[in-house]
Amino acid sequence: MPALDIILIEDEDGDAGLIRYSLKLSGGDHKVTWLTSLDALRQHLQSLDSAADVILLDLNLPDSTGLDTVYRCKAMARGTPIVVLTGHDDMDFSLKALEAGAQDYLIKNQLEADSLLRAMRYAMERYQLEHRLQQSEELMMAAIEGGNLSVWEWNLNDDTYFNSERLVNTLGFQQDDPERPASASQWMSEIHPDDQAAFHEALEQHLTHQTKRYQSEFRLKHKQGHWVWQFASGHVVSWDSNGKPERMVGIQQDISERKAMEEQLRNLAMQDPLTGLLNRRSFMQAMNQEHARVKRRVDYSAGILMLDIDHFKQVNDTYGHAVGDNVLKAFASTILGNLRENDVFGRLGGEEFAILLPDTPLEGAISVAEKVRASVEAMRVGADGKRLGITTSIGVDKLRAEDKRPDSALARADKALYKAKQNGRNWVYRQENGMGEQLATPI
Ligand code: GH3
Ligand code: MG
Ligand code: MG
Repeated sequence: MPALDIILIEDEDGDAGLIRYSLKLSGGDHKVTWLTSLDALRQHLQSLDSAADVILLDLNLPDSTGLDTVYRCKAMARGTPIVVLTGHDDMDFSLKALEAGAQDYLIKNQLEADSLLRAMRYAMERYQLEHRLQQSEELMMAAIEGGNLSVWEWNLNDDTYFNSERLVNTLGFQQDDPERPASASQWMSEIHPDDQAAFHEALEQHLTHQTKRYQSEFRLKHKQGHWVWQFASGHVVSWDSNGKPERMVGIQQDISERKAMEEQLRNLAMQDPLTGLLNRRSFMQAMNQEHARVKRRVDYSAGILMLDIDHFKQVNDTYGHAVGDNVLKAFASTILGNLRENDVFGRLGGEEFAILLPDTPLEGAISVAEKVRASVEAMRVGADGKRLGITTSIGVDKLRAEDKRPDSALARADKALYKAKQNGRNWVYRQENGMGEQLATPI
């Protein structure tokens, strides 16, 4: 057993002698520094290069008594475990000494060499463990704070919960707020109705051992009534003897900013940057959804318009590309003003546009097309001090249940558009029949 560097603080000669004798009996060649007061300890520590292994501390000294001695000694001798020496078998007091920061206690008149050594060794080990635990708690707290995380705890037996200050504040409450939800279930009932199913599914999967961790993203209702996006993650930390989950702990994070950014990116990815209309990809997504609806319901119809600006090349050639871009923007906003909110307007590329009209029969689509054509004809755009006018040709058809893909309807409308161009432009044309060689007719 390696020799220990021990500081003994004991003002009673007899007791000190007894302890030093016990240490000698234990066989190790220990170094013992005997001091008789806290003041002597302070001076001794100042002269030390390295910390001692352990301090044996009598609590009743000339300059300090009781638990105060533990607090003061601990403050002075940071980094050194303390074993308290008490005069009598007072369990309560000894436990208080541990709470005050001592690693162990020994009762003086029951001292034996073995138990003394063992106590010192345990004290040193325990101190190391406590130290490491404290460091890891500090690390965890730094991670939690730095990551904008909150912590929560849920007692499943009585539905009580703990939420850290940050989480409570995120939702607009204070810890002592009487309006704060009283139980964990009440918190859960404040989750957005659209997120309830996924939240409970994730929780259930964890509580029934299907997942190692519970994780979910959901909107929680703020005290003021708006929704706040949250990410939660956690796991069960104790189960009862029947295998029923008793307690869960976890972290929670406000992800409102991330969600807003995702939403913005999603919108950007769906949009044509010049006009703000849907781009080809997202327009085709809307077409697919609408086609599915047409196939499901016999009484349901959706119109398709294909549009192409007439002689647009001339606009660019005469006035320049920038004016051309302005015309495209004006074209888009003029037409938008003539559509309903449900209508889907996309720029498929260049100066080719398409409009999907949900819940609209062919006749309805034709009259929308005519209205759109007329509004474009009436529109004027400033160019070199002049007021420039354009026209558009439009081909019309509808989505059909028998179409394999919605592109077929676009292709038919495009054929009608081609006829409109061939026959002088600024026309609305439609396909006469759904199939085969079609004849387009001016309207
Ligand atoms: P038509 O009546 O037959 O449709 O004649 P057009 O001149 O409109 O047809 P064409 O397809 O020959 O020309 C389309 C022009 O649109 C050519 C191209 O430079 C222009 N264009 C396509 N995209 C843009 C754009 O984003 N900005 C501008 N300014 N012009 C564009
Ligand atoms: Mg054109
Ligand atoms: Mg073109």
